[in-house]
Formats: sequence, structure tokens, C-alpha cells
Amino acid sequence: MNIPRTSYPRIVIIGGGFAGVALARKLSKQEVQVVLLDKNNYHNFQPLLYQVSTGGLEPDSIAYPIRKILKNFPNFFFRLANVEFIDTEKNELRTNIGSLGFDYLVVASGSKTNYFGNSEVEKNSMAMKTIPQSLDLRSLILENFEDALLTSDLNERNALMNFVIVGGGPTGVELAGALAEIKKGILPKDYPDLDTRMAQINLVQSSDCLLKGMSAEASQKAEDFLEKLGVNVWKNLRVTNYDGSVATTNGDIAFKTQTLVWAAGVKGALIKGLDSESFVTRGNRILVNEFSQVNGFENIFAVGDIACMVTEEFPTGYPMMAQPAIQQGTQLGDNMLRLLEKKPMTPFKYKDKGSMATIGRNKAVVDMKNFKFQGIFAWYVWMFVHLFFLIGFRNRMVVFVNWVYNYIRFDREARLIIRPYKEKLKKHKK
Ligand SMILES: Cc1cc2nc3c(=O)[nH]c(=O)nc-3n(C[C@H](O)[C@H](O)[C@H](O)COP(=O)(O)OP(=O)(O)OC[C@H]3O[C@@H](n4cnc5c(N)ncnc54)[C@H](O)[C@@H]3O)c2cc1C
Repeated sequence: MNIPRTSYPRIVIIGGGFAGVALARKLSKQEVQVVLLDKNNYHNFQPLLYQVSTGGLEPDSIAYPIRKILKNFPNFFFRLANVEFIDTEKNELRTNIGSLGFDYLVVASGSKTNYFGNSEVEKNSMAMKTIPQSLDLRSLILENFEDALLTSDLNERNALMNFVIVGGGPTGVELAGALAEIKKGILPKDYPDLDTRMAQINLVQSSDCLLKGMSAEASQKAEDFLEKLGVNVWKNLRVTNYDGSVATTNGDIAFKTQTLVWAAGVKGALIKGLDSESFVTRGNRILVNEFSQVNGFENIFAVGDIACMVTEEFPTGYPMMAQPAIQQGTQLGDNMLRLLEKKPMTPFKYKDKGSMATIGRNKAVVDMKNFKFQGIFAWYVWMFVHLFFLIGFRNRMVVFVNWVYNYIRFDREARLIIRPYKEKLKKHKK
């Protein structure tokens, strides 16, 4: 990999997401060699992916080059690499660009979409975990409307304009709200010769409430907002299969749809070699102790979505969200320096700063420790927080300007089919 061995201990981080970047930022100024490996050369701000999928933002404004985040640190190395195997005996990684030894390893590989073993759903549905997936979804949504315009078959037209989103967590709720706004504000202007009132947005949630991790008020208000926007909210309903044209459920209803978005869960992005049953727990997450050390190892750590740190308050681990990832990454940076100085490490304690979700224009829900609010103020808070955590001044400016423009003009100008998805799908199936 062309990385010199120096007298400094080598800390290898797998993953330049929220946790990996927070850790690298903490360590890169110190007397250690930091090597960050990621299969993408950019940090992906996942909370805004749904805006890319729905044409509200260009993908470049939510991605940031990892090399640029950590420029000017002489002991920092980035390599674009897919880590394929972790040899815990030899303290070595195998990647698509070669092998690399480590003194300390931090796995911050995040999570991937969980289809709960349903390969048919996996094959036919759309996911929204990466920027390419969001661009595919954007293309598919727009291509469906182009096709709906051309067909004279009413059933086909309805299926093209019927959207099913599985999972009523923040991702599902935010996507449903954005699609409803497109239906109301954009489609009638773009397709005056199509009866776009026929477009249906269905949000399917297996439990009895949306936004399960949030308060009852937030959940109820989000549902009210969505219903006001015309979204069909289906609770206590589970999608059992999807063959590419019909989504079956455990209820009496089946959805004829050309677009099913699977936002029903994630699981840890495990890497071979560090996937022993002795420490991999529910949701493919790696059990770690309060110092983020993987059970059974002194020099291997895991942080962020992939890590499961069990506490009394969080018996299934901290929520798979950005805040725990950032806080774990930062804290581990401090602890690794303490470890190198042979000082005792301090245990991690999560500071819950609250959670939030937006449903659309002027509509959001915010739960803070002692304060819960919904509506327009919550929406401003949501925007401010997301701008604050976006990496890069340019990205913040671009997103801010886009939001102001979209707000004033009721518009989403990135509704572009740059890379047609249906063509790609046809080629893939051949
Ligand atoms: C659509 C969506 C919306 C979300 N909205 C919110 C929200 O509003 N608020 C919130 O708090 N959280 C939200 N989340 C969750 C949040 O994004 C994650 O909890 C957070 O990204 C976890 O950070 P991480 O560093 O653990 O992993 P990630 O940010 O996922 O980073 C993991 C990195 O590891 C890399 N990687 C993985 N495997 C390998 C490998 N084998 N080799 C090399 N590199 C590898 C990946 O390319 C990636 O860059 C959302 C997630 C999604 C998908």
C-alpha cells in the first residue's frame, strides 16, 4: 500500500463514516501513524440521502473527500481500499489493493441494509444507504413517471405511480414526506398531461407506531403530518415479499407497485475474519466493552453502527445513529492516547442530545431530553442541526442555498435522470 513503517505505532481505521472520521481527527495530530481505509474516497452524510433520492439536493453536496477532511496531517494516510479480511492472529488486513499490518485496529465499517434473509426483496427492492443507491432511486422515480405518461394500460400506470416504503423509522418517514411534496408541488407542473392525483405513497410499518425510538407525541404528530400530506400510513402491517411487481403482506392487502423502497432495518457491515459467533451479536454487531475493545482483543476496537456496547440503559447497544458514532470515535481517540501512554482508559458514556425527523416543509418533530416540540420551529432546528454536522463549508453553503431556493420556489431542481436505472437493471438481468 506504499505506507512507510515509522517508529510511531500504526493505528488502522476501517471506514471513513461518522465514527472513523471523528477518531481520525482526534488522532492525526498525535505521535501515531493513522491509516484510514474506505471503499469510497468520500464521507457520506447519510441523513440527507433521501433529499438526493427526491431531487432536493445534488449528491456532491452531501459527500466530502476524506483526504480533504484530514489534509495537513503528516502522519495520516488514506487509501481507497475494500477491506476483505482481518487476520487477527497476524494483525494484518487483506484488501483489494494489498495487505497491511497494524498495531491497533479500529473497525468503523458502519452498517448495511438488513433484508432479514429475504433474497427476493433484496433483489427487487430499492435501498437508500449509499449515494449510488439514492441516485438509482431518483432515476427510478422519474423514469416511472415518464413511463406512466406513455402507457395506456391503467393497471400498469397505477403500478408505476404507486410507491411503497417499508419501514416507518426516520428514513421511511422523511422519504414518504418528500415524495408527497413532489406529488403535490412538482408533478402537476412537470406532467400536466398525466393525472398525477393517482400517484400513491404508502408507508408500511410493522409495529403500531411510526418513529419507534422517539416519544409518543413525536410519533403521533409525524403520522398526522404525513396523513395531511396525503401519505397512506399502514401500521401493524408487514411486507412479506416483493417480486418486482406485487408486494405481499401479512394482512389482506397486497400492493401492485414498480417501486418498493426497503427502509426496514440495518445490520452491521461485518468483515470476514472478525465475525466470530463469540462476539457477533444481534443485528450483526460486534460486542465491545466500555472502552470499545472487541471482546477478547486488546488491540482491536469497534465504534459506530458496527459496535454493540451493552449498558443497563441500552441492553441492545446504543442506537445506530450518527451521535453515538461520533461520540464513540472521539472518545476512543482520547482512550488510545491514554493506552499508548500506559494510562487507564475511561469508559464511554453516551450523551443523548435527542433525536429528530422532518416530514416536509415546515414540519418536523424534535425530542430533546426535557423538551419535545413539533412543527415549524422543529423544522428550523432540524435544518440547523443538519447544516452544522455536514462536513465542509462549501457543502453547507450549497445545501443552505438549495433549501432556501426550494422553499421559496416550491421546487426541486435536481430531478434529473443522469444514469437511467431501468436500462441498468435490464442489462443486469440479461
Ligand atoms: C438514509 C439514512 C438516514 C439516516 N438518518 C439519520 C439521522 O437523521 N440521524 C442520525 O443520527 N442517524 C441517521 N442515520 C444513521 C447514521 O447515518 C449512521 O448511524 C452513521 O452513519 C453510523 O456511522 P458509522 O461511522 O458507524 O458508519 P458509516 O457512516 O456508515 O460509515 C462506514 C464507512 O465504512 C466504509 N466501509 C464499510 N465496509 C468497508 C470495508 N469492508 N472496507 C472499506 N470500507 C468500508 C463505508 O464505505 C463507510 O464510509 C441514517 C442512515 C441512513 C442510511
